[in-house]
Order: sequence, then structure tokens, then C-alpha cells
Amino acid sequence: MNTTLLSQILDSVEKRRNNIITDLSSLVACDSTLGHEAAAQSVIKQVFLELGTRVSEITIDLDKLSSLPGFSPPVTNKTDGRTNIVGVHTPKEATGRSLILNGHMDVVPSGPAHLWNHPPFEPYVDGDWLYGRGSGDMKAGIVAYCNAFAALKDLGYQPAAKVILQSVIEEECTGNGALACLDAGYTADAAIIPEPFGQTCLVAQLGVMWFQLKLTGKPAHVLDTSSGSNVFDALYLIINRLKALESEWNQTDRRHHCYASHAHPINFNLGKVHGGDWASTVACYCEADFRVGFYPGMKLDDIKNELEQVIASVELPNDLKAELCYTGFQAEGCEINKDAPLIESVKEAHRLVSDTHCETLAVTATTDCRFFQLYGNTPATCYGPVAENIHGFNERVSVSSTVQVAQVLAVFIANWCGLEKTG
Ligand SMILES: [Zn+2]
Repeated sequence: MNTTLLSQILDSVEKRRNNIITDLSSLVACDSTLGHEAAAQSVIKQVFLELGTRVSEITIDLDKLSSLPGFSPPVTNKTDGRTNIVGVHTPKEATGRSLILNGHMDVVPSGPAHLWNHPPFEPYVDGDWLYGRGSGDMKAGIVAYCNAFAALKDLGYQPAAKVILQSVIEEECTGNGALACLDAGYTADAAIIPEPFGQTCLVAQLGVMWFQLKLTGKPAHVLDTSSGSNVFDALYLIINRLKALESEWNQTDRRHHCYASHAHPINFNLGKVHGGDWASTVACYCEADFRVGFYPGMKLDDIKNELEQVIASVELPNDLKAELCYTGFQAEGCEINKDAPLIESVKEAHRLVSDTHCETLAVTATTDCRFFQLYGNTPATCYGPVAENIHGFNERVSVSSTVQVAQVLAVFIANWCGLEKTG
């Protein structure tokens, strides 16, 4: 890329700094937790239309998706008004490589709002940080790719290849939003997801499995606890055994090579418990929701077998029953070829914009990359802004980093897709 064009692109994105802040603020102001994504999706639909793309809404048809590889059993059956938004740019003449720019609009619950310094869905800027649930994970990424596209248009250019903008739902629990888009036929020569991974380039992600452990015991008056079976006592024992398995998978000889130097790649998390009904009654019922991480290459059925064996090995009272139920993420891990043209090209765009080397990342979580990479014949990676406290209180994203990500994406589009004059 010649230096004149490069500096024009950088300036054009920089001029959109205020647009980036206002676009991001209007998205963060929409609570888009599971089942409530419609308001945020209608905002982004308008943005995609203003960018001149042809917009479609893709629903999650569970009957259709359930037989596909990568499908995860849903945590909600509510599908009304819950759509993915896709905007397709078609060039006058397709001379470059096509591209999908994907982001998820769903956010995780904020927890008790009073534990935030400001309400989670009332975005505000303090210094370089924009605060609010979803600011980093990952509305800033969506705003970055939209403004990258817009900045090229401001210069009188558009991509000389098909570019598909996607704002999907359910990334935080199943990935069925991205799967629905894949099933609708959207593939490309590459896909980028600007997840908030600190401007690194993703080269591996873990598999993630959710399961719910349902424990049924025997209620009794606490005057004689031995006449009952307490599900929480059983839960302690099971957690300890699962933690032992977690340690085993973190041993150096069990590791996938991409995670060799990580401090603690595999994390098992008990994220939610519901059960019991009275402090003076032996608790006889609970549902405990777990998340386990595992390495690329490990098979879902093998993970299930191992979990079931571990739980079966815990000695429980005869009248206590443990049942496992797999809803939510059943997500395989994946490794991305470090030498793929996509990775080279993202790193090159990063270097041109920031004048620094782009680090690669093996992330200890899952992303929607797996759909493109494993099932969509579309090489994919993540490259997105610096954020803090994602899934925590006072989540925030760096505005300057978001602007720089938009610059990198604009330069990437120019190199990958090529440019043609608009109009
Ligand atoms: Zn995310």
C-alpha cells in the first residue's frame, strides 16, 4: 500500500472518532442480554443500511440447525424477534478477496447493578475509556468494522470484493447465531471477529462445554441431618473431583502445543447454582451450571465420558441422585494456521498502522471463529480492541484502541479486498 493512501485511510478513520463514540454509546445503551437483543439489532440494522449494504435478518431455526455440526442445545427456546443482522456489500467488479466481518451483539448479564460505579447500560466516557456492559465484549468491535467501512466510503472508496457484515446473537451461550448465518450460505475468503483481545491476532481457541448437574437428595428437618441427604454436601465433593480433573488437564504433558506457555489454560467454572428452599431443611434439590474448557483436538464425546466417569466416581449417599444435562455450549476447540494469508495480512495491517509487531494469541475461551474455521471453509481470526473487566463490573473499552482497530480493519480491507471508486 502506498504511503499516501495509508495516511488518507488513517486520517479518515481518525475523523470518525466521535462517530465511533456515539455509535458505541447507542449500542451499549441497549440491554442486549439473552432474549433482549432486538433493540440493539435494530440500531445496527440501520447502520448497515446507511453503509449501503443489502440487509437481511436471519432467524435461528432450531429444527433446521439441530442436525448441523457445531450446533449447541439452546438455553432458551424463545426465537420470536431474535434475529441476526447481515449486510452484504457487492462491488461493481469483484477483483479482490471476499471478507466476512462478524461480531456478536449479545452480552452477558451485568450482575447486581448497584455494584457498578454507574448503571451498566448507561454508557459514559472517562478519559480514554468507554464504560458499560458489552462496551468491550464486543460492541466496540462491531462499531470498529462499521466505521472502517464508512471511513473508506468517506474517501470515495468501497471494497472491490464482496464484504459481509454480520451482527449475530447467542455467541455467549451457544454460537447458534453464527451457525444460522453459516447455514444461510454466508462464507468468504476470510472472516475477522474483532473480539476484545488487546489487538492480538487469534491463532487458537479452546473448546467449551456447558453442563448442568441436577442433584436430587432427601429433605429432612435439621434436628437430625443424618436422616436426609444434602445436595450441597454432594456438590462440594463433586466440585473437588472436577477441580482435580482440571489440574490434570493443566499438567504440561496433557497440554496442546498452542497452550504450552500459559499459566493456567484450562478452567472449570461453577457459574450458577439454584437450589434448596429453607435454611432449616436439608437441601434436597439443586441445579449447578458448569463450564469446562478443553484443548483443540479433544472430542466432545470423550469429554462427556470423562466428566461422567469423574462424577460417577464420587461416593454419594444411596438416596442421592446426580444427573447430567448438556445445554448451551458444546463447542469444539480449534487451531488456526499461523502462516495463513489471513493471519499474515492482519499482522501486516497492524504493523502498518501501529508500527509495532502484532502478537498472536491462543485464547483460553471460545469464539464464533470455530464456525468459519471448522465448518464454513472460511479461514477466520479475531483482532479487536483493548478492554477490561469483560464479564465483570465496570466493563470498559479503550476508545483509542477501538479507533486503531478501525484503522487496522480499514487498511486490511484495502489490502485484502482491494478498493474501487464509489458512485
Ligand atoms: Zn465476545
